[in-house]
Amino acid sequence: MIELPEASVLSKQLSMELSGKEIVEVITAQNPHKFAWYSGDPALYDGYLSQKQIKGANSYGGQVELQAGDMTLVFSDGVNLHYHSKNDLPPGKHQLFLKFDDETSLSATISMYGGLLCTPKGKNDNLYYLIAKEKPSPLSGSFTSDYFLKLFTPKDQKLSLKAFLATNQRIPGLGNGVLQDILFNAGFHPKKKVESLNDNNKNDLFVALINTLSKMMEFGGRDTENDIYGNPGRYKSILSKNTLSSPCIRCGSQIIKEAYLGGSIYFCSGCQTV
Ligand SMILES: [Zn+2]
Repeated sequence: MIELPEASVLSKQLSMELSGKEIVEVITAQNPHKFAWYSGDPALYDGYLSQKQIKGANSYGGQVELQAGDMTLVFSDGVNLHYHSKNDLPPGKHQLFLKFDDETSLSATISMYGGLLCTPKGKNDNLYYLIAKEKPSPLSGSFTSDYFLKLFTPKDQKLSLKAFLATNQRIPGLGNGVLQDILFNAGFHPKKKVESLNDNNKNDLFVALINTLSKMMEFGGRDTENDIYGNPGRYKSILSKNTLSSPCIRCGSQIIKEAYLGGSIYFCSGCQTV
């Protein structure tokens, strides 16, 4: 899934690789996918995007925005982007395919669910997109400890830390993936209740959040996700499917995987307190 660090990596790569190229053909829904979300009729994308020049790309939270002339394409959630050079064989399956004037191409496939929204610039009214664009990024100067503390409202007291941090877009781009290492580094269990945190705990969580996300960015995203060239990020996830069978790096106890709130959580059975 595209989350904050990956969105940043992908947008930089797209901007570098595609800027200045003209789209000559767009194929959508070649392989129908129940959970591929298009804006309007995907059959119209070719008309919207052909002959448009790529101006660059941005990221907002966990969303990647490609600018093509007066149109934008926004990729989110489980979209996998693959860049193909001139001599690569075109991919067999995809939900979106952009061919450029230099015979390179970009394809998008959906893992579980994902957005492929094409709208005129400034007209994307998708709520997730608008919130991601409006709220400060955890890695920007406006995301201060004061700002973080103000996110804890009285109605959130009964929530678990997973629900608080990774739902409702309180912090756009912070999803169930990056959540695992943030909570590990803070020393808290994903099911720990917000109401059990004192001020020091909240500060520990803030520090873990900033440090973990910064490290993920520094190393080009997590090793569980791929970039547009098919290379995994260089950030070694502490808690993920890759490390499930290894002992905890802090205390040596067993790592546990559990289904919780519509996704898997990973935690150390020894050192993450509930
Ligand atoms: Zn441990």
